[in-house]
Amino acid sequence: RTVYVNGNYVPENEASVSIFDRAFLFADGVYEVTSVLDGKLIDFHGHIARLERSLKELGINYPVDKDALLEIHRELIRKNDLVEGMIYLQVSRGAAADRDFMFPSADVKPTIVLFTQSKSLVKSPAAERGLKVASFPDQRWRRCDIKTVQLLYSSLVKNEAAKKGADDAWLVLDGKVTEGSSNNAYIVDENNTIITRELSNDILHGITRKAILQCAAELDLKVEERAFSIAEAQKAKEAFITSASSFVYPVIEIDGAKIGDGVPGPIAKRLREIYIEANRAAAI
Ligand code: PLP
Repeated sequence: RTVYVNGNYVPENEASVSIFDRAFLFADGVYEVTSVLDGKLIDFHGHIARLERSLKELGINYPVDKDALLEIHRELIRKNDLVEGMIYLQVSRGAAADRDFMFPSADVKPTIVLFTQSKSLVKSPAAERGLKVASFPDQRWRRCDIKTVQLLYSSLVKNEAAKKGADDAWLVLDGKVTEGSSNNAYIVDENNTIITRELSNDILHGITRKAILQCAAELDLKVEERAFSIAEAQKAKEAFITSASSFVYPVIEIDGAKIGDGVPGPIAKRLREIYIEANRAAAI
């Protein structure tokens, strides 16, 4: 693979960053994952807008040049012959001369890294099968709206979920689901209303979430942005998750309880189809 590091395209085994990089020592960095279909980027501008917001919230001094970033994404797609998959982008506060909790001086340059990952997104066993999820207390820091590389707790619960025979973890704060380990969480009630937690600092403002709520509106489905409990989810007609790299995955089981008939629901399936259709057409 050819990757991008601080202005250079290099083979992945020649890419390097400092051991003093603050992403490495303090998880002091932010990231984005943009999907690629037919060699084109899905919702690139949405991801770049959120990147700018994450950088601003943390005061990382990286002036976002949208055109330049688009060109880097496209160049990586070309160099790696990427047809379907994702592009990972990370910006950290950079490498100071030493390990210090205080931010480095303004002349320390941020570190920027991008790489591609090939993955079949449209044809997906997980989408056909549906996911089993297990719930865990949400013990992440309380600024989940910032897409930082501080992913240890999410990684931990995903592994704990796997030990329980589940595919993913849903996180619960004060008795209500916040989101999945790396995705937004939804249920569908008996009136076909889609319910998903409202935007706040407790969840990542998913780029796919925004697009899916638009798809729901096009299908004339009602949407309620509010928190729900695991017990309510277990009684729901359907459940599903969304993220850039999964689009929509149905959820068929929560903490061992089958959702509906225990098979992917028609609303999740339909939303997945129209999301793919619309975003494939709009990809750049
Ligand atoms: N929530 C969390 C915690 C995530 O890590 C992600 C994506 O990685 C999402 C939600 C979904 O966001 P998006 O649709 O922008 O990929």
